[in-house]
Amino acid sequence: MGEQQIKYKRVLLKLSGEALSKGVNGILNYDILKNISQKIKICIGIGVSFGIVVGGGNIWRGSFGKSMDPVRSDHMGMIATVINALALQDILESDGIDTRVMTAIEMNQVAEPYIRNKALSHLNKGRVCIFAGGIGSPYFTNDTAAVLRAAEIRADVVLLAKNNADAVYDKDPNKFLDAHKLTDVKYQNILIDKNLGVMDTTAASFSMNNDIPIWIIGIDDPENIVKAVKGENIGTLIQS
Ligand code: UDP
Repeated sequence: MGEQQIKYKRVLLKLSGEALSKGVNGILNYDILKNISQKIKICIGIGVSFGIVVGGGNIWRGSFGKSMDPVRSDHMGMIATVINALALQDILESDGIDTRVMTAIEMNQVAEPYIRNKALSHLNKGRVCIFAGGIGSPYFTNDTAAVLRAAEIRADVVLLAKNNADAVYDKDPNKFLDAHKLTDVKYQNILIDKNLGVMDTTAASFSMNNDIPIWIIGIDDPENIVKAVKGENIGTLIQS
């Protein structure tokens, strides 16, 4: 298999916490992680370089109640992403994939701190970089971390992997039988029409301002990662 098969050479894959826990009572579903890892391995084999941002929603989202300090809640959420990143690293390494976890909040005994040039060096050596801890600041989301890291590592595209959805629709396909799948959407529409509900507006405006294409794909079938890097006609592409 040669490099001509691929549409993108460097991708930033965003995996939400919920995508990693689907179908189990606990916080992580080994079978899903293993399946994702094997698809990443296939992509690496055809010449794709991967940065990955993992979310933490499977472990912590929201708060105990209105009384909770939102900043503390977000600190907990960011730390949750590190647990997911280490789990993913373990499974990628068990598949023989050289991997580094880099955290936006320093945890030097556990993983490397995020340093942009170091990340580029890892990627250029063929390692997968898992970026954990969001952007390291409260009030942001991991979607924003994904688009920021994508800009920093000069990824060709962000693959925003969704569970329970395979694309953007004009209305909720779970509620409306006549919902239409949209194959191409402009950033402006994501900002104007909150019903599209695919990503937060901070992440959408950052991508628009920095011209980073975002491809919404379904992760219920991890084969979609392989299809996306080959440029197959799936999901929804969000761009200018
Ligand atoms: N978070 C944060 N700063 C960041 C990224 C995430 O404070 O840069 C918090 C976010 O507010 C949430 C938690 O971490 O409470 C988990 O993030 P998110 O909900 O984006 O995870 P996902 O939906 O991707 O699993």
